[in-house]
Amino acid sequence: MRFTDTPELAEWRTTVKGFIDDNWKQGRTDDDEDNPMEEAAPDESRVKPWLDKLADSGWIAPAWPKKYGGADMSVLEQFVLSQEFTEAGAPTSRQMLNLVGPTIMLHGTDEQKAEHLPPMLRGEVAWCQGFSEPGSGSDLASLQTRAVRDGDDYVINGQKIWTSGAHRADWMFVLTRTDPDAPKHRGISYLLLDMKSPGVTVRPLTNLANGHIFNEVFFEDVRVPVRNRIGEENRGWYVGTTTLDFERSNIARVVNIEKQVRRLNRYVKARATAGQPVRDAFRLEMVDRAVETSVCALLSFQVVSIQARGGVPNMEASMNKMYGSELQQRVAATAMHLTGMAGQLRRPSGIEGDLKVRAAMDYMTTVSATIAAGTSEIQRNIIATRGLGLPRG
Ligand SMILES: Cc1cc2nc3c(=O)[nH]c(=O)nc-3n(C[C@H](O)[C@H](O)[C@H](O)COP(=O)(O)OP(=O)(O)OC[C@H]3O[C@@H](n4cnc5c(N)ncnc54)[C@H](O)[C@@H]3O)c2cc1C
Repeated sequence: MRFTDTPELAEWRTTVKGFIDDNWKQGRTDDDEDNPMEEAAPDESRVKPWLDKLADSGWIAPAWPKKYGGADMSVLEQFVLSQEFTEAGAPTSRQMLNLVGPTIMLHGTDEQKAEHLPPMLRGEVAWCQGFSEPGSGSDLASLQTRAVRDGDDYVINGQKIWTSGAHRADWMFVLTRTDPDAPKHRGISYLLLDMKSPGVTVRPLTNLANGHIFNEVFFEDVRVPVRNRIGEENRGWYVGTTTLDFERSNIARVVNIEKQVRRLNRYVKARATAGQPVRDAFRLEMVDRAVETSVCALLSFQVVSIQARGGVPNMEASMNKMYGSELQQRVAATAMHLTGMAGQLRRPSGIEGDLKVRAAMDYMTTVSATIAAGTSEIQRNIIATRGLGLPRG
């Protein structure tokens, strides 16, 4: 078995790299990049022209069918594109597009597709995901945000939490309870909500790295037209699980881990050259991270190969998510061990600064990796029940 590109994919990779060099990198080197694990706000002056270029090439949503304005790329071509974009730190699209777009394609009406897909393809709209609530995260189906039918509208009251990017989003895809008397999975509807609607309040939540990534969102008598419902009333849970499947199949994670391990590798070598070799135990720790990164890559290949055969990874997506997010934390811990006191600075100078080893930032920002998109415990439950066929605990 060989994990190398076919000649066609190798050619495609060269094309993608050339496109990135011409339109995104513009003289930057790998060391100039922002730290990939630092969830900084996008620099609009760079992002907007880049997204315009992507839109011109039909690469905002490369895997979408041509009839919806995508490029009809194969799963493997899209994988290569995603690898190279992640490697270069280049955004592929506006926020959440890859979750809500395919969901609308699968479950939306022709009118909804016509209204929402074109602006996504032009990179004009940002979305946010209104699923979690203060009492409903892992047990998402217990959500309480109410949507009550009133003529041609739903009137929404309630609260969402941990809503990434809500402060920059134009639209939210939101799960609401439309039948409080039905069994919990059967009384939920999936709505598209304009964030400028009267009655929407977004309040920032600061994460432990002092960053503003996610928010609380409050709804007070917010009116959403019934035509903005995706799928049938009270069947929104099943639409929502489509979105979650797309979310957990994230294969960009491993590319970021590989970049970080390479960065640490360069750092250890630079220290040795500067006469400050790291302790032997830390070198061995680096070896473990390198081996684990290879395992993580194989788990990602497994997800992609299932998708390439037309299947939907389920247990495999959970394995990939669980292993990758836990590895992100181990890599961050290794960076802390390697850099010692210097690593504790948010913006270190010296060798750490030169090589962009911001250990403390990574250490803090990767804490959330095993929580977002379903905690490690939930992924283990999925692997146990759906993968290994074990009885529920
Ligand atoms: C960085 C970040 C970004 C996020 N962005 C979004 C977003 O954009 N939109 C959105 O809707 N949500 C978002 N979330 C929320 C995320 O989906 C939830 O945090 C996650 O699903 C866990 O839910 P919870 O926080 O309510 O924890 P809980 O569900 O309360 O879990 C608490 C603990 O109990 C454990 N636990 C719960 N149930 C079980 C069980 N059955 N078996 C074993 N252990 C269990 C969990 O693993 C966890 O350790 C984000 C979260 C983070 C960290």
